Parts: sequence; structure tokens; C-alpha cells
Amino acid sequence: MRTQRQVVDYSLQKRALLRDLHNGRVGTLEVCDASPYLKNAARFHGEPTEDRCPVCRRDNLTLVHYIYGDELKQSAGQARKLAELPVLAMTLREFQVFVVEVCQSCSWNHLTEQFLLGRDALDADEPGRDAAAAGSTSHRWEGRR
Ligand SMILES: [Zn+2]
Repeated sequence: MRTQRQVVDYSLQKRALLRDLHNGRVGTLEVCDASPYLKNAARFHGEPTEDRCPVCRRDNLTLVHYIYGDELKQSAGQARKLAELPVLAMTLREFQVFVVEVCQSCSWNHLTEQFLLGRDALDADEPGRDAAAAGSTSHRWEGRR
């Protein structure tokens, strides 16, 4: 998505947690604890993937996109379909997206990444704004000489 920015990737944390799980340092119940709300969100708003669940390997993972931000008002904290995000990104100035992977078989879940979306990114890289300001400054300096 064009306005995507400040991406934080959590794949290292996920790999570390899976390592602890395979070493027996963390129990399956501790990491496979998706709430009924999260599993419902996965069923109704989730984005199917081709990736097998790293814990049970019975089911493919589903990605759930949660949105947060003041402009969202009562929608803040809701799960949205991936297809709805570009529309929101053109309407709102800025909102935060959290992507959570969920296994609907064993309830494994983990935050995979977070990022910002919204029109603010388009205003920031508007061409020519800085160049025009620099130009006027140099004119003023020439005038004083
Ligand atoms: Zn699973």
C-alpha cells in the first residue's frame, strides 16, 4: 500500500518464541491462546495465507488486521478486511494497523507486523515544497548583499 510507513516487523520475536516452544521452555497452552474474539475476527475478516501453522501444521494461518487511531472513533480496535485498508488510507490522515497471524485449529497467534497508513504520507512527499522554500531564502540573502 502506497501510504504504508513506520513498519515494525516481529518475525525475529516469533522465531525466538517458536524456538523456545520447540525446546520446551514455553508451553503450547501459553502460545496457543487466541481468544474467541480473535478467532471470530479471523473467520469473518481474516486474510487466508498459504503458510502452515508453525505449531500444529494442520491448518493454514489467517492474518487479521486490527486498526487503531483517534480518527477511527468507535471503529478503533476493530478487525478489518485487507481490502478495506486502502479505502481507509485515502480517507483518514493516519491510523495504526496491527497484523496478527492466527491458526484456527490450535489457536496459535502472534503479532507479525505493525505499520501506519493514511493520507499524511501523501502530504509529506508533496514535490517542490522544500525546493520553493530554499529558493526564496537564497533570493532574500542576495537582496541584502
Ligand atoms: Zn495451529
